[in-house]
Amino acid sequence: MKTIVIDAGHGGYDYGAVNGARYEKNDNLTIARLVAAELRRQGQHVIMTRDTDEYVPLLERSAISNRNNADMFVSLHRNAFTDPAANGMENYVQVNSPQSTRDYAQNVVDEINAAGGFADRGVKINNFSVLRNTRAPAMLLELGFISNAADNQAFDRNANAYASAITKGILKSLGETYNPNGGSGGGSDERRATATAIQRGLNNTYNAGLTVDGIYGPRTRTALVRALQIELNETGNAGLTVDGIFGQRTKSAIPALRRGARSNLVYILQALLFFKGYNLSVDGVYGPATEGIVREFQRDRGLTADGVAGANTFEALFK
Ligand SMILES: [Zn+2]
Repeated sequence: MKTIVIDAGHGGYDYGAVNGARYEKNDNLTIARLVAAELRRQGQHVIMTRDTDEYVPLLERSAISNRNNADMFVSLHRNAFTDPAANGMENYVQVNSPQSTRDYAQNVVDEINAAGGFADRGVKINNFSVLRNTRAPAMLLELGFISNAADNQAFDRNANAYASAITKGILKSLGETYNPNGGSGGGSDERRATATAIQRGLNNTYNAGLTVDGIYGPRTRTALVRALQIELNETGNAGLTVDGIFGQRTKSAIPALRRGARSNLVYILQALLFFKGYNLSVDGVYGPATEGIVREFQRDRGLTADGVAGANTFEALFK
């Protein structure tokens, strides 16, 4: 298992490139989340420099990688140019990078080419802060031009395929095996079955009224907050309004869940971890595997990695 830092470029007040209502920061986060989820399904340890629309300083992005002794750092961006005809994908490495880093960048480019849809502008060199200040082999991928309509179409249509391609290129570079079925217990069919089972469970137990489509959207998230509030009322007499909004009162009512626990609260915790891309059984039993995943999630979010899920862990899961 390797540690891979996935860096969604820009964020918060830093929009990156803009094309009308389309902001680079959002595209970057979209593809970063897909890559992170796929790498996790492949059994890798992933750290995202951001998983929300927030501003993270450039030096902090490198520091996250350096603190965690990452094996690779991949920064995800979209390009832009004044001429809307400019198009294609390119991958940057730092000036004076060793040949191995250039080869890694080329592996990612090759896999994206295999997925198709973008002109190949190749591996290039530049002096970007996130490349310069990161100790791990680092690359900065520009996944097409946000200023080009055809590139945006390719990005939107093939986002999952590009996430797989980037994942394959990373794993090949790190000498790790890519499992087309998604690694241990994480095949896409199996994950879909788990996702729909959770939605059915929310409908049956909490009258959530969800469409059972296996997609973790705003409604499923709200249903999980409601389920949490109902459980906190029933088991802890929290007296919460069941409104599906994760506010301060809900947060304060959450008890510390730890190894050995067995309850619907544990089930909700596992469902949230699952929907964040982690692989675990969603069975309501807080065993060693769940404890390990909680630790991994806490590490990924910069929380105290004690394997005990309390208010802060739940808050991060609902972000
Ligand atoms: Zn950018």
